[in-house]
Amino acid sequence: MARTFFVGGNFKMNGSVESVKQIIDNLNKADLPSNVEVVIAPPAPYLGLAVATSKQKTVSVGAQNVFDKASGAYTGEISPDQVKDLGGKWTLTGHSERRTIIKESDEFIASKTKFALDQGLSVILCIGETLEERKADVTLDVCARQLDAVSKIVSDWTNIVVAYEPVWAIGTGLAATPDDAQETHKGIRAHLAKSIGQDQAEKVRILYGGSANGKNAPDFKDKADVDGFLVGGASLKPEFIDIIKSRL
Ligand code: PGA
Repeated sequence: MARTFFVGGNFKMNGSVESVKQIIDNLNKADLPSNVEVVIAPPAPYLGLAVATSKQKTVSVGAQNVFDKASGAYTGEISPDQVKDLGGKWTLTGHSERRTIIKESDEFIASKTKFALDQGLSVILCIGETLEERKADVTLDVCARQLDAVSKIVSDWTNIVVAYEPVWAIGTGLAATPDDAQETHKGIRAHLAKSIGQDQAEKVRILYGGSANGKNAPDFKDKADVDGFLVGGASLKPEFIDIIKSRL
């Protein structure tokens, strides 16, 4: 089954008006393949700027995080409606930096995922194990637990893209090997088949994230269950375009 290749750019808490404009200008000038879906997630203050300046048909803008309420007394939070109001179409949920630094629970992440979907955003749901968990050989158990929290309350996964991001590979320069990624992605898909059904599981895109860059992206080309990348550091650089083109 053909799943559209997908590349997400997670800028994290980086950038300025100037640098966001520059990144988008680079994307606007690039000859991007028409069959690759791209989502860029700048810091929330630059969402409107990103939407206004991005000209490529295949590039959408998303938030890095949303709250699970529509509006109200939630100081510092952003609602899915506000992201949509600015022209954003996506949000990330469950990034490991939010799981570990902000201490977001599986249940909270699931609740935000459900709410974002209900409000009409598409979601890049991030999952992945820590180095300790990998050493303890519980990678798939951890991924399954993080996915199950969502599948318990969300039955329609049409608008979810899963990003498998082993924590030990994020920002370390130590990407998972294509074989390792494929094995885990296959396990994730098999688990999804059990929880949300074979049909849906076949359609869900599973991205790899963690030190993906312009150089290593083509190495994942023939990995059947690697449907794209979620890119942090390299999404701030011109090589982001090489990653988008890595399946050509
Ligand atoms: P990295 O980050 O590409 O800088 O390793 C990936 C991510 O955290 O989404």
